[in-house]
Amino acid sequence: MKNNIPYKTYLTEKEIPESWYNVRADMQNDHRPLLNPATMQPVTVADLSSVFCEELAKQELNTTDRYIPIPEEIRNFYKMFRPSPLIRAYFLEEVLDTPAEIYYKYEGGNTSGSHKLNSAIAQAYYAKKQGLKGVTTETGAGQWGTALAMACGYFDLDCKVYMVRVSAEQKPDRVAIMETYNADVTMSPSDTTEVGRKMLLDPANRNGSLGTAISEAVEYAVLNEGYRYTLGSVLNQVLIHQSIIGLESKLAMEKIDRYPDVVIGCAGGGSNLGGLMSAFMADRLTGKQSPYFIAVEPASCPSMTRGKFAYDYCDTGQVTPLAKMYTLGHGFIPPASHAGGLRFHGMSPILSQLYHDGYLDEARSVTQKEIFEVAGLFAKVEGTLPAPESAHAIKTAIDEALKCKETGEKKVILFGLTGTGYFDMSAYRRYRENDLDDTPPTDESIAKGLANLPAQPDF
Ligand SMILES: *Cc1c(COP(=O)(O)O)cnc(C)c1O
Repeated sequence: MKNNIPYKTYLTEKEIPESWYNVRADMQNDHRPLLNPATMQPVTVADLSSVFCEELAKQELNTTDRYIPIPEEIRNFYKMFRPSPLIRAYFLEEVLDTPAEIYYKYEGGNTSGSHKLNSAIAQAYYAKKQGLKGVTTETGAGQWGTALAMACGYFDLDCKVYMVRVSAEQKPDRVAIMETYNADVTMSPSDTTEVGRKMLLDPANRNGSLGTAISEAVEYAVLNEGYRYTLGSVLNQVLIHQSIIGLESKLAMEKIDRYPDVVIGCAGGGSNLGGLMSAFMADRLTGKQSPYFIAVEPASCPSMTRGKFAYDYCDTGQVTPLAKMYTLGHGFIPPASHAGGLRFHGMSPILSQLYHDGYLDEARSVTQKEIFEVAGLFAKVEGTLPAPESAHAIKTAIDEALKCKETGEKKVILFGLTGTGYFDMSAYRRYRENDLDDTPPTDESIAKGLANLPAQPDF
C-alpha cells in the first residue's frame, strides 16, 4: 500500500448521519414543478397524498429544508447494513498504473444487493407510521422490489410488487427472495388492473415494461383503501433518502484527509448518483468546492445524452404526474438485447435540472460490451463482482484514471459501486457467450419516442 490510507475506511455506527440532505434547498433554479396532467397545474401535497403517504408527499415537494431528520427507527435499521465502506481501489490503481487515487463507496452489502434499501426502509416506515395496510410498487430487474420486500417485512406491511414479466421469467430467484419476505409478486402486464388488461389485448406487450408496471402499481394503490404507491428512483424523496451515501462518503473522506476531484455515478433514474453527489454538490452549490460530476448511462437507454429536456409522464400508461426531465419519451423501451440495467426512459428532475444548469458537469454513455469487460476486470482485481449498472461507473472511473496516467495528474476519483452482480449472472453468461448484441437505438427510434411527448405547458 502506497501510503497510510487504509484499504477500507469505515465510519462508526454513531457517525451514521442524523439527517438527510435536501439539495433543492441549495439549488438556485429549482426544477420545474410536477404537473397534474388533467389540469396542467403544479401538484399539491393533497394531490400527491392519494398516491404517496402524507410524509413522503411533503418530502416530494419540500424545497426549503436543507436537512431532514432521519427518524430513529430508520437509523436503527440502517445500522444493520450501514455505514457502508469507502474503499480505496489500490489493486485497480495498480493494474492501471495510474497516479490517480480511486475510491468507491460500496452499497451492495445487504441482501437486496444494492443502495435501494436506503430509500425502501424510509418509504415503508412512513407508510407504517400512517397506519396503512401496505404499499405497491413495480420492479424491473428486481433490486427495488427486493429492497421494498425487506423493508415491508421488517415493518410487517403488505407489499405488492408488479414485476416486468420478462424479468420475472428470467430471474425466478428474485421472485423467490421477495416471496421469502412475504411480498406478493404479480407479473406485469397483469389482469389485476385496467391498464394491465388493456396492454394484454396486444400480444406484443406481453413481456411488459417498467412503464407499464408503474402504471399498474399506481392504479392498484389509488383504487384500494389503505395502499399507497412507492418508487425506487427518480423522485425527489428518493434522492433525499439516498443522500446518506454522499454524506457518509464525505465524512469518510474527511477522515483520510481527501476530497474528490471527480465524482462518478451510473444513472438509471438518478437516485444513487443524486445520493453520492449530495454532500459534494452542496459544496459546489454554495461555492466551497468544485468537484467535477459525471453521470454514466447505457448507450441503449441514453436519456441525458440523446433525450430531450421536456415535460413527460413517468410511466407508459400516463397515470403519473408530468415531470420536467431528460426523457426519451414515456413509450421508449430499450432494445431487447439490453442486459445492463438502467432502463428507465427518464431521469430524475433534480439531476436533469442540475445537468441543464451545468452543475452536473457531464453525461456519458457506454456500451454493454464495455461494461461487462470492466466488470470482469474489477471482479478479478478488487474481489467484488459488480452489478452491471455499477460497472458503468467503473468503466468511467477507469477512463478518468487512464487520462491521469497520460497527464500525470494525481486526481482523486470517487465512484459509486451501487450493487453486487450476484443477481445478474444470466447477463454475465450472455456476455461470455458473446450473446450481447450492442446496437444502440437508431436516431429514428429515438425520434419516434420523442414525438410522443405530451403538449408542453406555456410557462
Ligand atoms: C437500481 C440500480 C441502479 C440505478 O438506479 P439509480 O436510481 O439511477 O441509482 C444502479 N445500480 C444498481 C445496483 C441498482 O439496483
